[in-house]
Amino acid sequence: MNRSVVITGSTSGIGLGIAKAFAAAGDNVVINGFGDKDEIEAIRSSLDAAGSGTVLYHPADMTKPVDIEDLILTARDSFGTLDVLVNNAGIQHVARIEEFPPEKWDQLIAILLSSAFHTMRHAIPLMKTAGKGRIINVASAHGLVASPFKSAYVAAKHGIMGLTKTAALELAQENITVNAICPGFVLTPLVERQIPDQAREKGISEEKVKDEVMLRLQATKEFVGIDEVAAAAIYLASDAARSITGTHISIDGGWTAQ
Ligand code: NAD
Repeated sequence: MNRSVVITGSTSGIGLGIAKAFAAAGDNVVINGFGDKDEIEAIRSSLDAAGSGTVLYHPADMTKPVDIEDLILTARDSFGTLDVLVNNAGIQHVARIEEFPPEKWDQLIAILLSSAFHTMRHAIPLMKTAGKGRIINVASAHGLVASPFKSAYVAAKHGIMGLTKTAALELAQENITVNAICPGFVLTPLVERQIPDQAREKGISEEKVKDEVMLRLQATKEFVGIDEVAAAAIYLASDAARSITGTHISIDGGWTAQ
């Protein structure tokens, strides 16, 4: 569709799935995130080949406001404007509050919450000038409910729900919508990395962490597919979703219905 799209944390997992969907739709996409240089270039070139738009990579670190400004300005300079911003980058750390390293707390809040403030403060003026825009925040079921040992993650995800609503109200008459997507457990590298930590914390096997901890409240007893989250992002970016703002779409297999 030739839109200009920025997706933070899109070298892996959900962000990469969202990047694939926009690239396949013919949009110009700036991907971002960490990883091996050659692997990132392979991802970039395959996304670029998947549609009629151009796909660029920007290495911005979401803990660094100066990098974040450069990410947004790169989209503007390369593609003329910014139509869709997807705040997705994320990490996890699992520990009891009294054992939670303060520097990990700061890092999670920076990547999961403050980075969205920084992308938005640079994206919004571009969207206002263009007279349209879509901001999609990949939150989590943990933006709505809590789990033990995930204090920074749950606090940041609840925070991004508040930021989503506030931005939606500020932009309601600007043809710019702001929404969150709240997935349950999706089997991505972020989740796979938590399994040994949780097994250690709880003194149970890794298989039990998957079946009895992660999927305990996911009523379907299935992990959510990356493609399902990408489809919700494509919908929220579409004209059909123009009156949906300041809210969220849960894709959590019934988790938060309980
Ligand atoms: P992932 O680990 O597969 O991908 C995370 C991405 O963020 C990677 O591209 C990584 O390089 C990037 N990233 C990490 N730190 C960064 C930084 N400082 N600057 C820039 N990029 C950085 O994880 P995922 O599971 O795909 O998670 C993506 C988002 O979805 C996160 O916000 C996560 O909280 C959310 N989420 C995931 C699940 C799940 O079950 N996987 C559920 C709900 C919400």
